[in-house]
Amino acid sequence: MIETSKINIKAADKLLKLPKYIFAELDEWKEEARKKGIDLIDLGIGNPDGATPAPVVEAALKSIQDPKSHGYPSFRGKIEFRQAIADWMKRRYNVTIDPYTEIQTLIGEKEGLANVAMAFTNPGDINIVPDPYYPVLSRGTWIASGEVFHVKLKKENNFLPDLNEIPEEIAKKAKIFFINYPNNPTAAIAPMEFLERVVDFCRKYSILLISDMAYGEVVFDNYRPISIFEVEGAKDVAIEFHSFSKTFNMAGWRAGFAVGKKEFIDIIYAMKSNIDYGTSTLVQDAAIKALTMPYEYVQKIMDEYDERRELIAQNMTELGWDVYRTPATMYFWLKIPKGYTSKEWCKMVLEKTGVVFTPGIAFGDMSDDHFRFSIVQSEARLKEAFRRMREAGIKFS
Ligand SMILES: *Cc1c(COP(=O)(O)O)cnc(C)c1O
Repeated sequence: MIETSKINIKAADKLLKLPKYIFAELDEWKEEARKKGIDLIDLGIGNPDGATPAPVVEAALKSIQDPKSHGYPSFRGKIEFRQAIADWMKRRYNVTIDPYTEIQTLIGEKEGLANVAMAFTNPGDINIVPDPYYPVLSRGTWIASGEVFHVKLKKENNFLPDLNEIPEEIAKKAKIFFINYPNNPTAAIAPMEFLERVVDFCRKYSILLISDMAYGEVVFDNYRPISIFEVEGAKDVAIEFHSFSKTFNMAGWRAGFAVGKKEFIDIIYAMKSNIDYGTSTLVQDAAIKALTMPYEYVQKIMDEYDERRELIAQNMTELGWDVYRTPATMYFWLKIPKGYTSKEWCKMVLEKTGVVFTPGIAFGDMSDDHFRFSIVQSEARLKEAFRRMREAGIKFS
């Protein structure tokens, strides 16, 4: 028998080559702090802290009692679910989507974003991803052995990518352009005139435009984000992705969907049907309820977030930060004080106060000068976090 030490089985290079997942490192820091007996206030995560609305839970309970929910689900999503999605897109964004051909339901949006990158990217292809970015927007490409061209999102451009910073030869070669508005982590929103420019750009260079609308409903002050399909000509180049996680406090259920023209949806379907069996019927039934229940359930979640947003903006301003405010998302994107990398500063704050922030570097190499403050803790815990920060002398200077 060959000696165990001589056996050498490794992960594929594309996995080994991936940059370290900073969120895993953050977990290690937290674990260490807990061991020292520090009471953590985690403002690092993007996991909604509230319960899923009761009607959704009840719909799931009812569904699980029905043997029809026990077999393999339909790949595309049951037609009742796709119809509910089409009706919702009409109601919220006034766009018309064919429920039979233009929707693919997903096991959470993240799965769809990874699969769409893999379905369209050949080894060596270039995809464009603004930095900072939600990790899967780059990692899907890397896993597909593609290259990522990053464009920096700058505050002076309201965290919208400057298309002039994309060299012509990159644009000509690019396969996919990923955008995410309302944006995680910067909270930026995209005006119509930007969306029109990016659609024009993608039409000009035959680039697939992926719009990640995970925060499309995490909005305040009556702001309504724009669906990419409200832009004329977008359907020829774009696919839009939506999630149930943030809107309905359903992160653990794993539900999302992609919308686009039949040819694109068929490609996602082809990819997925080789890998998974679709969203479980029980989750689909719950998701139908989420889309059709009175909007007040969503409003209640957002009203609570809005109070926290006020509290955070006020306190961070008092502590010296220039707070970038928009009417969307659960995040604040704030500058790291001079003299620190984002990891150094966040680690220092964690050790002194037990308050956890996400270092900007977790969202891309160009974002080491910021950190993300997430609002997903109760008002009482937020107040405690500010009390500790003041006591420890944490401020912007
Ligand atoms: C949370 C999030 C998603 C995906 O959420 P799922 O839970 O997988 O549906 C996608 N994009 C961004 C920017 C997110 O923050």
